[in-house]
Amino acid sequence: METTTLKIPVERTKQSKIDQVDFDNLNFGSVFTDHMLVCNFRNGAWEIPEIMPYQAISLEPSAKIFHYGQSIFEGMKAYKDVDEKIWLFRPLDNFKRLNISADRMAIPELPEEYFMEGLKQLVRLDSEWIPQAAGSSLYIRPFMFASGKGFHASPADEYKFIICLAPSGSYFSGKVKVLIEETYSRAANGGVGYAKAGGNYAGQFYPTQLAVKKGYNQVIWTDDNSHEYIEEAGAMNIFARIGDTLITAPTSDRILDGITRKSILEIAEDEGIRTEVRKLSVTEIVSAAKDGSLKELFGAGTAAVISPIAGFGYKKVDYELPEITDSFAALFKKRITDIQYNRSADKFGWRYEVK
Ligand SMILES: *Cc1c(COP(=O)(O)O)cnc(C)c1O
Repeated sequence: METTTLKIPVERTKQSKIDQVDFDNLNFGSVFTDHMLVCNFRNGAWEIPEIMPYQAISLEPSAKIFHYGQSIFEGMKAYKDVDEKIWLFRPLDNFKRLNISADRMAIPELPEEYFMEGLKQLVRLDSEWIPQAAGSSLYIRPFMFASGKGFHASPADEYKFIICLAPSGSYFSGKVKVLIEETYSRAANGGVGYAKAGGNYAGQFYPTQLAVKKGYNQVIWTDDNSHEYIEEAGAMNIFARIGDTLITAPTSDRILDGITRKSILEIAEDEGIRTEVRKLSVTEIVSAAKDGSLKELFGAGTAAVISPIAGFGYKKVDYELPEITDSFAALFKKRITDIQYNRSADKFGWRYEVK
């Protein structure tokens, strides 16, 4: 039995919006459940979180989030199995990473109990909103930002931690065509690339728009120094399969420590797949594409789980990847989602029931 002493006050909505939602045609993260969790940092401490109806929040124009961008987030999901049991996937890892991001952005760390209890109680309250169709889930967005006021360029003295929930269908459907970036960078040595800081994503939008104009769906980020090493695929970690070896870049200052990425590495080991965590150069990818040994490229992250890449552009040349059966991408996606939806045993202990 889990015990908790944390009593979270709940103000329930007077009128649920659930009947207005078309659960058969859900996009990603565009409708929100009836409730949200809000926790305030004031007078040097995080106050007890509260659950309340999903609603707009009011901030002063001088709130530091608007000026200096102290803002971080997490992304996770809740799943409902055929018996209507509710599951999370490695939630403590999201909690730990939230505080890693918080530290880097000079935001005060949140207590574990506020995150875990707040999350469980909110998900339980809005559990009717967890879709059950294949590939659907309840996307969970915990985030924190500087609500304290003042134009002085220094950390704020007040913050908000909020969790919102969005019932979502599956993320990308098709295979994507990507552009290997030669000019812009997502992250730099000594920078904030390893944090889920809002500004990292704002900085990606413009180069991504340029790539979209050229006919690509997404950018493959390379290292900021030489643009010679592959680092991430959009807001996902990236994997290559050359021959039968799985390769991904090591995490660093510039690369986000993805939970999907590390789960894939553990499953690969369990499957006896040869894995190399090392720098992966564009030259190696291009020559493997030319000689046919590049069998797969895919992105990995919570939203899409695995996003297979159909081809890539580099220095004005397009390269296509072969259509293959028995892809690593399909194998990893199946093993991960089978654990998430409680369709298989969970030998790694990743599944976490919300009772
Ligand atoms: C969130 C994120 C990922 C994936 O992390 P998961 O924990 O697998 O969801 C990878 N790269 C970036 C830049 C991200 O923001």
